[in-house]
Amino acid sequence: MAIHKAKFDKEEFKKAVVGNCKSLYRKTLDEASQQQRFQSVAYAVKDLIMDKWIATHKQYDKEDPKVVYYMSMEFLMGRALGNNMINLMQYKEIKKALEELDLDINEIEDQEPDPALGNGGLGRLAACFLDSLATLEYPSYGCGIRYRYGMFKQEIKDGYQIETPDDWLRDGYPFEIKRAEYRYEVKFGGYVKVVKDEKTGRDNFVQEDYRSVIAVPYDLPILGYGNNTVNSLRIWDAEPVVKFNLNSFDKGDYQKAIEEENLAKNLVEVLYPNDNHYAGKELRLKQQYFFVSASVQRAVDRYKNMHNGDVSKLYEKVTFQLNDTHPTVTVAELMRILMDENGLDWDQAWDITSKTVAYTNHTIMAEALEKWPIELFSRLLPRIYQIVEEINRRFVEKIKAKYPGDQEKIRKMAIIYDGQVKMAHLAICAGYSVNGVAKLHTEILKKQELKDFYEMMPEKFNNKTNGITQRRFLLHGNPLLAEWITDKIGDGWITDLKQIDKLSLYVDDKKAQQEFMNIKYKNKVRLAEYIKKYNGIDVDPNSIFDVQVKRLHEYKRQLLNILHVMYLYNKIKTDPTFDMEPRTFIFGAKAAAGYRIAKQTIKLINNVANVINNDASISGKIKVVFIENYRVSNGEMIFAAADVSEQISTASKEASGTGNMKFMLNGAITLGTMDGANVEIVQEVGEENAVIFGLSSDEVIKYENEGGYDPMEIFNEDQDVREVLMELINGKYSDNDPEEFRDIYNSLLNFQDGRRADIYFILKDFKSYAKAQEEIDKRYKDKAGWAKSVMLNTAKSGKFSSDRTIEEYVKDIWKLEKVHVEM
Ligand SMILES: *Cc1c(COP(=O)(O)O)cnc(C)c1O
Repeated sequence: MAIHKAKFDKEEFKKAVVGNCKSLYRKTLDEASQQQRFQSVAYAVKDLIMDKWIATHKQYDKEDPKVVYYMSMEFLMGRALGNNMINLMQYKEIKKALEELDLDINEIEDQEPDPALGNGGLGRLAACFLDSLATLEYPSYGCGIRYRYGMFKQEIKDGYQIETPDDWLRDGYPFEIKRAEYRYEVKFGGYVKVVKDEKTGRDNFVQEDYRSVIAVPYDLPILGYGNNTVNSLRIWDAEPVVKFNLNSFDKGDYQKAIEEENLAKNLVEVLYPNDNHYAGKELRLKQQYFFVSASVQRAVDRYKNMHNGDVSKLYEKVTFQLNDTHPTVTVAELMRILMDENGLDWDQAWDITSKTVAYTNHTIMAEALEKWPIELFSRLLPRIYQIVEEINRRFVEKIKAKYPGDQEKIRKMAIIYDGQVKMAHLAICAGYSVNGVAKLHTEILKKQELKDFYEMMPEKFNNKTNGITQRRFLLHGNPLLAEWITDKIGDGWITDLKQIDKLSLYVDDKKAQQEFMNIKYKNKVRLAEYIKKYNGIDVDPNSIFDVQVKRLHEYKRQLLNILHVMYLYNKIKTDPTFDMEPRTFIFGAKAAAGYRIAKQTIKLINNVANVINNDASISGKIKVVFIENYRVSNGEMIFAAADVSEQISTASKEASGTGNMKFMLNGAITLGTMDGANVEIVQEVGEENAVIFGLSSDEVIKYENEGGYDPMEIFNEDQDVREVLMELINGKYSDNDPEEFRDIYNSLLNFQDGRRADIYFILKDFKSYAKAQEEIDKRYKDKAGWAKSVMLNTAKSGKFSSDRTIEEYVKDIWKLEKVHVEM
């Protein structure tokens, strides 16, 4: 790829920063607050982006290429300033200009709130995809919601998680622009009136007595690396209709006006903080339809403007990718627009829709599957419900034709059944592609969870193993390593991560090993300083940094990790001469606000940390740290500093994982189960450069089909496990309330709330995990062997670039052409 580097006029840039400060705040730079300085710099950087942004869309209008709309309830973007500087290829130049203004780039970057419009992996994937799409010069829009409050900020007080609102827009977000010219009305509730068209004899469906809001988009620039492409992330805000149209007041419908004002205010107020969990809230369905309707209306209008109002070939230029089932109403909304607003008949509309929508599945866990009660769905979206009913009716006919007399098939596959609308079934039925997010996950979909659908329409199913962008998670997050790699093999890896394999030549080179480990050490010092500042804990950068950062979820098994820490602590206490490499166990995780056992696990980790970190008798062999408010920005620093990457989900439960890839890229060894993309990581790096333990997914699934296993057997037979479990309820880690961790204890041992004991096989995998941890210790003692192993992890991470993932989506699903933007 021809890398384009624009000229940078340093004096011009400095003038812009000073000028921005003056015009925004009536201040000189030295009078301004840090936040004001950040804003002044950010606006100057935005100025460097605008011409490219304009040129990109001019080019798109001219060439009329096919466009992908990536439909997602979540975009976990992380900070934009540093990333934009990097993708402009002007990081160093801007850093230098700021130094001359007496500004420190790190302090400036630290002022930016993380736009955290997502929970975890799913939202971060969407953000990585946008980065890759722009870098690879593919026309695309991210479509989502401009939540007033994103993912909550987590504070730890007395060991407990406290949620505080993430007021990311408080000081204004410098990179967004409001596009008031693209506003759309979105209607909720009321009823559908059928009006016969006198001329055509056709039935027209008209929604009456509804409440509506106005969707107004804000665009954020998405820069390609080293090119002129600037795509857009379009996030929708809701405004009340009355602002635009005072008719309601004219008619004296005061009640309606107030309802619509409240609807608009509530709609985009907050991101639901659940990861891999369906809550079934009415407001959530409203959010889904809100951003989908606005996005689809806009996409169809844009297409019509470019094609003389003729929608019949929409699928040639437009494709909607559904990031999980959350935006699945896209299917019915597109049908509605094509039929009710463009006069197409059902068959024409279905032909277009079923060539335009594609679906990505992200989980097989039952509690995450979206099923809306008919009552709620049809009350909120009466016309959409009619359309879904008709899709279902025709689909059930097809099932009957293929499996005559097989009622069981209908029960399992129908879109509407048992009073519920099943969103995954709708997405699979209507979509032209259904993909899983790692090889293992896709195989499980085909063989188990979606077996019936796979048998009926095998051609739709395909795998797209997730990826991450190396621009953010190496070039920006780990500048020391990035520079070292570029010194060794050139900078081709930045846009072609496969080239990082050239590092394999150096893995036995003593000097290279030393340099690599020295960079790791410096990154550990950087993280140790962060931990000192925010946790007040001293950690030794010479100890093994063993890290588990991800959402707190039972299936991710942070509990297995901390139970093992308790076990190890007992071992050291009984045998003070016990020989081990000093280890720092680092955790970071947000728990959904209503997820009791997850929050108890956070409290447990913090209490264990408190006891162990204050026990001088173990002479610092173990330290435990819980990093508050894990998010993209501190994540970047954490991945760079990790020696061990904990990827210990119950096999079959983690669809892919992407954290695992970020650690690998930054030179950490995966300690994990054969789950999700771990399987492919091991395939790339070799078994000898990872540490694998635990049940296989086949074994887990087998136990589950047999109704589980009996953890009491382990409790009775294994004294070490029993001792650790008793410590959950004897006050050792909760002296003012020995009952504090009773729920955790019960979840492992007792059948309760209709749930079997230890459904995530924590005790079953415990011994195997403890052995794997001993293996880590053993390998770390061999300095050269360890260095070689971690270097190989970096060298073999090429497959896990989201650039590779996107090229696969383009080739197999979206069929896009690159558009090169000249300037
Ligand atoms: C990558 C990432 C995740 C996903 O991590 P997993 O380990 O794959 O669950 C979650 N949160 C943040 C902030 C991330 O950067």
